[in-house]
Amino acid sequence: MVYERMVIVIKREGHSHTEFCPHGSGDDVELMIQKAIKLGFEEYSITEHAPLPEGLADKYAGKTTGLTEASMAAADLDAYFQKANQMKAKYADQIKINIGFEVDFLPDFVDWTRDFLNEYGPRTTDNILSVHFMQGANDKFWYVDDTVEDFQAGLLSQYPDSQVLYEHYFQTVLASVNADLGPYTPNRIGHMTLVKKFQDYFGLDRNFSENNLRLVDQILKAVSGQHRELDLNAAGLYKPYCNEQYPSYSVIQMAKSLNIPFVYGSDAHSIAEVGQGYNGVISLVE
Ligand code: ZN
Ligand code: FE
Repeated sequence: MVYERMVIVIKREGHSHTEFCPHGSGDDVELMIQKAIKLGFEEYSITEHAPLPEGLADKYAGKTTGLTEASMAAADLDAYFQKANQMKAKYADQIKINIGFEVDFLPDFVDWTRDFLNEYGPRTTDNILSVHFMQGANDKFWYVDDTVEDFQAGLLSQYPDSQVLYEHYFQTVLASVNADLGPYTPNRIGHMTLVKKFQDYFGLDRNFSENNLRLVDQILKAVSGQHRELDLNAAGLYKPYCNEQYPSYSVIQMAKSLNIPFVYGSDAHSIAEVGQGYNGVISLVE
């Protein structure tokens, strides 16, 4: 019998949150790390939502908590690094811990974000760049993955056609990939099909149009040229109205053909979510 040669891949958790996330469960990151160790992870990235620019408040529309609870507080940054570094040292002989952020891309705040990364980037070893906000109704930014009500009021009202909605999201992702965020720009692009989070609620198209696939191709070629990675994010599988990992399988196939590395991310905001769906989603990229 002939066996295929096994590729040895380090079991890596690349996207996780902590008790510093206001919309999380409050579970202690230490217990999340212990769960990861139990599941056999060899590497673990702590990637809390970086603080948002203060100026966003004037340009944001939607539920107030969508803004106030979207990210960790700037006042918590020192405590966050202290806790993360403490974990890194305490568990060094059991798991390799990376410390960083999930950074929001906001087209109007590139300078602010670059300044933030220049200041805090040197204290990080692994970061993710994500699009959670996009421009919608009243020329304001709306939170893509907060509530179905805001998704409807801010985004679907403007872009009732799934493909037009997707196109606006992908244009923002493309801008994020090409943005000059300085030497500490995140190396990984987060959940690049997050716009599908409520697809089953609103009956959105499951597939992407030719036009959108061309846009995806443009994004992926930029990611590949920049030697960046993609977040293989299992969280969408467990969202009641998404039921699909991020990115969608068609995007995974395109990225594979460009040899773009994937890094699994549970996007856990609780102990229970650490490692969720790992075996299933990793098999999509092997
Ligand atoms: Zn979050
Ligand atoms: Fe995210």
